[in-house]
Amino acid sequence: MSSPLFLPLKPWMLARYGRETHRLSLDAGSTCPNRDGTRGFGGCTYCDVEGSGTGALKDGIDLRRQMEVGLARLARRADEGESVGVVAYFQSYSNTYVAPERLRLVLESLEPWLPGGGRDEAAARVVCVALATRPDTLPEWALDQLCELKQRTGVDVWLELGLETASDEVQRRIHRLHTLEEFHSAVQRAHARGLLCVGHAILGLPGDGREGARCTAEELARAGVAGVKVHHLMVLQRTVMAKQWKQGELETLDAPTYVEWLADFVERLHPEQVLHRLTGDAPAPSLLAPHWPVAKNEIRNLLQAELQRRGTRQGALWSASPS
Ligand code: SF4
Repeated sequence: MSSPLFLPLKPWMLARYGRETHRLSLDAGSTCPNRDGTRGFGGCTYCDVEGSGTGALKDGIDLRRQMEVGLARLARRADEGESVGVVAYFQSYSNTYVAPERLRLVLESLEPWLPGGGRDEAAARVVCVALATRPDTLPEWALDQLCELKQRTGVDVWLELGLETASDEVQRRIHRLHTLEEFHSAVQRAHARGLLCVGHAILGLPGDGREGARCTAEELARAGVAGVKVHHLMVLQRTVMAKQWKQGELETLDAPTYVEWLADFVERLHPEQVLHRLTGDAPAPSLLAPHWPVAKNEIRNLLQAELQRRGTRQGALWSASPS
């Protein structure tokens, strides 16, 4: 592919960490305030019962064991005498929706592999700790703990914050139940502690449309998150959306439409926001729709071609974003 017209993750990671870096998904056994009744019951209408995660802790695999197994797998990718970087990624549910002592224990489980922990010269070493969470479940004590981790060890700490859509009305419709204002507040408070933020977006949510995709990009640019993950709406088994889709009440995007909306989205981001993800995937047995006749990696090439066709690039419409 010719020089990308958008900012992909891989070269950014190489420049920042000086080595090839991979994600190691971990399950801390967290839960979600949108399932236990604190914010709502039943969860977001697109979320399956595993909280979009690995489900590993529920299978009885404790965190240190998850780390050992995952690091051994990643170490096999390292060339002789080299080491790969690892992003220790707490993916499932809302990882700051726990008691303070629980988060402390979760972070402590990484200590052996953090700088100064004794195993940091291994063939796979942790360069970053990432936690996915909701913007409305980010208490000050959690930010304090994450800030302390960053300052003491020097590793990057990312907070992956789900925005999904800038529309509060669509947030209600998909039963996500937080607001755009809560997202901006969370990012500001994380930035004040020196943490990096990655904002999540889903294109094609019901009632959001192409204009919604554009607005979400503008708000992510306005928030100043360092990174962005975006994917198309996927309908999974065992979700509320699965019922809606089976009853013909829900449509998903085809690949050409998604690429057009994605190009709109990317044009409205800041030129320096790193694109961590451009599309989604799901295990074949759980994915109801859409089934695209293009491979996941092909979306990157199609986006490049669309931006080329338009004579544009990431951030081309950023100056038109709201301030
Ligand atoms: S906030 Fe996250 S974990 Fe909770 S229901 Fe929604 S998608 Fe699932």
